[in-house]
Amino acid sequence: MTIYDLVVVGGGPGGIMGAISAFINGHKNQKPLKIAIIEKNSFLGKKLLLTGGKRCNITNMKPVKELLLKTSNKTFLKHSFYSFPSEKLLELFKNKGLDFKIEEGDKVYPKNGDSHSVLNILMEYLKEFNVDIFLNSPVENIKKEDDYFIISSLNNIFYSKNLLISTGGITYPTTGSTGDGYVFASNFSHSLSKIHQGLLSLTSNDTFIKSLSGISLKNITISFKHKSTNYFKKGDILFTHFGLSGPGVLDLSNDIVEAICLENKSSDFLNGFFNNFYITLDFLPQYNNEELKNIFKTEFNKNGKLKIKNYLKHFLPNRFIEDFLEYIGVNSDKQLSNIKKDEINSLITNLKNFKVNINGFFNKEHGIITCGGVNSKEINSKTMESKIVKCLFFSGEIIDVYGPTGGYNLQIAFSTGYLAGLSLKLA
Ligand SMILES: Cc1cc2nc3c(=O)[nH]c(=O)nc-3n(C[C@H](O)[C@H](O)[C@H](O)COP(=O)(O)OP(=O)(O)OC[C@H]3O[C@@H](n4cnc5c(N)ncnc54)[C@H](O)[C@@H]3O)c2cc1C
Repeated sequence: MTIYDLVVVGGGPGGIMGAISAFINGHKNQKPLKIAIIEKNSFLGKKLLLTGGKRCNITNMKPVKELLLKTSNKTFLKHSFYSFPSEKLLELFKNKGLDFKIEEGDKVYPKNGDSHSVLNILMEYLKEFNVDIFLNSPVENIKKEDDYFIISSLNNIFYSKNLLISTGGITYPTTGSTGDGYVFASNFSHSLSKIHQGLLSLTSNDTFIKSLSGISLKNITISFKHKSTNYFKKGDILFTHFGLSGPGVLDLSNDIVEAICLENKSSDFLNGFFNNFYITLDFLPQYNNEELKNIFKTEFNKNGKLKIKNYLKHFLPNRFIEDFLEYIGVNSDKQLSNIKKDEINSLITNLKNFKVNINGFFNKEHGIITCGGVNSKEINSKTMESKIVKCLFFSGEIIDVYGPTGGYNLQIAFSTGYLAGLSLKLA
């Protein structure tokens, strides 16, 4: 019978990094550790392969201080982010020959644009460190007797001195995230904070919005008002056949859930609040209304013969302009000198303050992340060890912390996994 130093349940980024860092930690202490990862799928990292449109937005190069501010719990994540920041994470991959590029918003992707290359290197480390990998092995039950965890999977029983639960959340369940870890944590008397999907697309019945399907706009401001608070996000949006998506919309959806849905105490609180709910799009946030008015005044005088549809190409994509002008009732072939004052006002109002009726979230199972989970107050933020059960660790999305789009959530999984592995009891 093998007694492992560490068994990791769940082979996503949080679990894999836990195993890698545990080995490095043991190695430093001249103690080669016996480590196993138990995974229900037929291969590790199924969700990781989908990330960043399969290009893997692995992390974000903003300074740690700024990254933390955008997460849901900077106090809890501080130690793990400083222990294993983006630079250290990338170093691990660069050491094995993978190059990265930084895109808008400080998002980091592998240069080759392929998430497989990230997973392949993680697998190389696991092989090098002799980590035992058990695939097609859904863990069904875990208990602790004396100083050992006994982990029962469909086809095996494992014994271990330390246990890392890293089973992810509840979204994209076909990737293996079906919330199993919450049961294991609850059985060890951990409490769970309210669990729901996050970073969601929004649905709309506005036929105009649907007619723009496939068009994306860069760096616009999206907002809504609830009670006396204005909520804003700046980012790219994508018009779709169901409504709106894209990073800016996904990020705003978390504010909508937190500001509005969580007030509703029913279990399906992501449904039912969408009565007369609007978000506002500002297509040209770089100018305020007055500035835009002055720009239009000057340019319309200077370039009187130019058609309005051609002039607006300075600001917006071609495909959007004609549909937009038609929708607001301005003839797109009109020359600038012939645009009337009320048409200019309508242009400015609609460019700066375009209302979209929102009637729900699109396909909640496909939220990019899970919000809520194992209560972080019951986990030691300096080690990722449970404050309730000794030698039990958590990493990744199973913990009730999350970030916006842009590489934050993978960094959370990698940083918490790394810290857990580093903090094992090696005696
Ligand atoms: C479409 C999509 C795109 C995304 N893009 C990005 C991005 O570009 N950048 C970013 O930062 N984040 C992104 N995310 C979020 C990111 O993928 C997750 O935050 C991250 O994968 C969480 O890692 P994890 O290891 O905690 O969980 P997971 O990756 O979900 O891994 C958990 C693993 O545990 C296994 N498991 C579960 N239960 C059991 C059990 N009972 N027994 C054995 N194994 C079990 C699962 O099969 C799974 O392999 C994206 C998410 C999605 C869905």
